[in-house]
Amino acid sequence: MRIQVAIIGSGPSGLLLGQLLAKAGIETIIIERASKRHVLARVRAGVLEQGTVDLLDQAGVGGRLHLEGMRHDGVLLAFDGHSHRIDLQSLTGKTVTVYGQTEVTHDLVDAREAAGLTTIYEVENVSIHNIDRGSSYITFEKEGIEHRIDADFIAGCDGYHGASRSSVPAKAIRTFERVYPFGWLGILADIPPLNSELIYARHERGFALCSMRSATRSRYYIQCRSDERIEDWSDARFYDELRRRLPQEHADRLTIGPSFEKSVAPLRSFVAEPMRFGRLFLVGDAAHIVPPTGAKGLNLAASDVHYLFEALRLHYAGADDAALDAYSERALQRVWRAVRFSWSMTMMMHRFPDEGEFAAKIQNAELDYLVSSKAASTAFAENYVGLPY
Ligand SMILES: Cc1cc2nc3c(=O)[nH]c(=O)nc-3n(C[C@H](O)[C@H](O)[C@H](O)COP(=O)(O)OP(=O)(O)OC[C@H]3O[C@@H](n4cnc5c(N)ncnc54)[C@H](O)[C@@H]3O)c2cc1C
Repeated sequence: MRIQVAIIGSGPSGLLLGQLLAKAGIETIIIERASKRHVLARVRAGVLEQGTVDLLDQAGVGGRLHLEGMRHDGVLLAFDGHSHRIDLQSLTGKTVTVYGQTEVTHDLVDAREAAGLTTIYEVENVSIHNIDRGSSYITFEKEGIEHRIDADFIAGCDGYHGASRSSVPAKAIRTFERVYPFGWLGILADIPPLNSELIYARHERGFALCSMRSATRSRYYIQCRSDERIEDWSDARFYDELRRRLPQEHADRLTIGPSFEKSVAPLRSFVAEPMRFGRLFLVGDAAHIVPPTGAKGLNLAASDVHYLFEALRLHYAGADDAALDAYSERALQRVWRAVRFSWSMTMMMHRFPDEGEFAAKIQNAELDYLVSSKAASTAFAENYVGLPY
């Protein structure tokens, strides 16, 4: 089989790229390691920048998002027993939208199926061949039978553990990494959110985040050890710990209820450079990971998709390949800015086990400056709502 663009991975990057390319009349196929059921069930991010919303609109999948997504004009930073609102809208003229990654994935999968586009699920042993030449192809197995897809270009949208990045020769790639000495224990519960806007809380017992997926579904996180055992955390213990990390005014209003999802996520910053190797382009988590503190993972995947889509559209429209040649550099410039923001927010909000009271005082001073200086609040807000593409 021969195709213009072969996409590996049907996470948000692969699905969004596929949808935009299809709308531009460019042929794609997606191959995916997991089952469709697994892809649709994954619970992850939930805060969308305006640029991501615009891109979903451009892909023709923004309908339900505009009906059900919740526009947030501000965000709360809590420390030292009090919370302070950062007014994103008045500081930047922009807002963010709370709409779960699960819903984004559903909308994209539905649109792909409605358009009759092919996704092959449950593939194994994906290998990429001849990336440096004009005759690139992918091989994979499905139900024990080997298949081959020849492609003009290959989009590696297969996440941090995928086959794309690992198929690049070690001497052609550089990686940069920081692993943080803690994780996030998160729950999902069908209870009304504690607050209409997200609360990021710094506390001497550790960080906490009160987020949501809808007006009736809450997503709460607390900082934990990276090797924390979920079995040790009953819902009662979780809510108890969450309350202790919030200012009293918020803790007193927390509604509790049984969780239906509970997981521990490690925190890391990771970037692979470059993001292009001949005919292979890395997109989203395949090339970079950020700690979820700044809500940037999914949004960075979207900006990569934007750059790659525009470059492929120009290529197939007969323009020169300057945009394809610039993909890696343009995407990485935005990636590093978001990596910096996610890192700085992580450093400012978490308890670092090996650091003492001095570090805690510095964190409080940094937060105090952030909420009391218009310039610092604006810089935070600009990054939180998403830097321009
Ligand atoms: C546990 C967790 C919690 C997160 N929470 C947040 C959050 O709160 N906020 C936030 O902004 N971001 C969060 N993120 C990050 C965000 O979810 C990702 O940045 C986003 O999913 C990236 O999309 P992607 O399509 O690039 O990669 P992925 O979503 O990882 O999708 C990659 C796809 O490729 C498939 N695949 C993998 N290997 C192969 C292979 N060899 N062949 C074929 N297919 C393959 C996978 O099954 C998957 O479907 C979280 C991530 C994780 C893992």
